[in-house]
Amino acid sequence: MQNLLGLVAREGGAEGCGLIVGMLVVGGGVGFAIGKGKGRGGFGFVLGALLGLIGWIIIAVMPGVNSAPVMRRRMPPRPVGGPGAGGPGQGGLKACPYCAEMIQPAARICRFCKADV
Ligand SMILES: [Zn+2]
Repeated sequence: MQNLLGLVAREGGAEGCGLIVGMLVVGGGVGFAIGKGKGRGGFGFVLGALLGLIGWIIIAVMPGVNSAPVMRRRMPPRPVGGPGAGGPGQGGLKACPYCAEMIQPAARICRFCKADV
């Protein structure tokens, strides 16, 4: 009888342990899958395994490793359509009153004609 009880207890313990391991594997796997597309697969695995659903959300909201440089590359100053084409507020620039080139609003000296503005 004692052996039987011990066996049942052992099985119950193994089942609980397996449940935790399964949650870690599933949570980590999903976290890894979410983080993988952002270059954070390992980080996503750890967060998903430790926090579960919350970790998935954190990974999903978190910006990807590669997104920041890509966004920087995609935001070069656009070529202005030409002098006089745009009014004030085009790209935050203003037209020089002397040469009509677009210069920084905070500029005190025009970078094109060196005039004091
Ligand atoms: Zn100028």
